[in-house]
Amino acid sequence: MERIYMDNAATTRVTEPVMEAMQPYFCEIFGNPMSVHSFGRESRKAVENARRQVATALGAQPNEIYFTGCGTESDNWAVRGAAYANLKKGRHIITTQIEHHAILHTCEQLEKEGFEVTYLPVDEFGIVRMDALAKAIRPDTTLISVMAANNEIGTIQPIEEIAKIAKEKGILFHTDAVQAIGSIAFDVKAMGIDMLSLSGHKFHAPKGVGALYVRNGVKLQRLINGGAQERTQRAGTENLASIVGLGKAIELATANIAAHNTQLSLVRDRLIDRILTEIPYTRLNGHRTQRLPGNCNISFQFIEGESLLLSLDIKGIAASSGSACTSGSLDPSHVLLAIGLPHEIAHGSLRLSLSEENTLDQADKVVDALKEIVARLRSMSPLYDEFLQQSSAE
Ligand SMILES: *Cc1c(COP(=O)(O)O)cnc(C)c1O
Repeated sequence: MERIYMDNAATTRVTEPVMEAMQPYFCEIFGNPMSVHSFGRESRKAVENARRQVATALGAQPNEIYFTGCGTESDNWAVRGAAYANLKKGRHIITTQIEHHAILHTCEQLEKEGFEVTYLPVDEFGIVRMDALAKAIRPDTTLISVMAANNEIGTIQPIEEIAKIAKEKGILFHTDAVQAIGSIAFDVKAMGIDMLSLSGHKFHAPKGVGALYVRNGVKLQRLINGGAQERTQRAGTENLASIVGLGKAIELATANIAAHNTQLSLVRDRLIDRILTEIPYTRLNGHRTQRLPGNCNISFQFIEGESLLLSLDIKGIAASSGSACTSGSLDPSHVLLAIGLPHEIAHGSLRLSLSEENTLDQADKVVDALKEIVARLRSMSPLYDEFLQQSSAE
């Protein structure tokens, strides 16, 4: 059975060129990058080369890039680090209701520590309400953090516009760009971004390595104390091979964003168009055009997303549901609730997320499988039965 992987927003596979770039940095070149001997110097050179690759991809200077353990750490560091470095100015932070938990849970923790956080609402497509942003800004606001693109529904935010407002008001602007790298071209200087989080495993580098761009002049409190790595700002011996992989992967991911987007949106639109026309009682979540080229998020009425996932898995198809059930909670996704979906619709949501390796043929196979599964699950659903009886009685 051909297995089909359409869960690239959860993680991507390490591609061969990335693996090849990393290969020498396990057994051959292994010195501690902090060591002064030749072994250490070779490793140091590789880390600095990767730093240049990340800086080039973002339009930043190499000394503005810090390697971290993951996207989550980058997000924690940006928000907490900025909050604590700016206590003199105030204790108010602005973010959105649809951020990744790496941001939301950090903000909730800060609230317990005496900070105030405004969680901006979004419209029905998941786009931040700019009028709410304008109203939320206060003299004691120190940070605005808005994700570049949402991991569940793929909505792309007007981050340049938000960055401009932040700058006018003298407020730091951070963006979680973890899902956006490779799909959105970043030029942090031109876009007015003060801090940007990214994570290797979302663009074909290994898991467990991320980076944070911090504009020169921005002060952050350290999160991890210890040795003098990362210009004393992030201690811990560098994850050498993974950093090399991240450097190579971001170079590849940003080399031809236009072609990448054309290819992905072709497959994405096949999924969206066929599902919406061939399967009744479905709706697309997120914005039709302001969305990541690889994101398809659909709600199927009268169906549990979890049952859908399990049935797809039996057919070798990997996707993700819009609910957080898989993480042990029965609450539907905070993102789907924020765009105004009722609980029962949010529960029947499915996210298919693409990489360059997904084909139109795979899209067709997935839609064919979905048609069969959805029909079967609905035929067993008392809710659907009730709905049919009601509509025939009318
Ligand atoms: C995956 C993801 C993260 C977390 O990155 P990790 O490297 O897995 O910790 C943060 N934000 C967004 C938007 C993500 O998609």
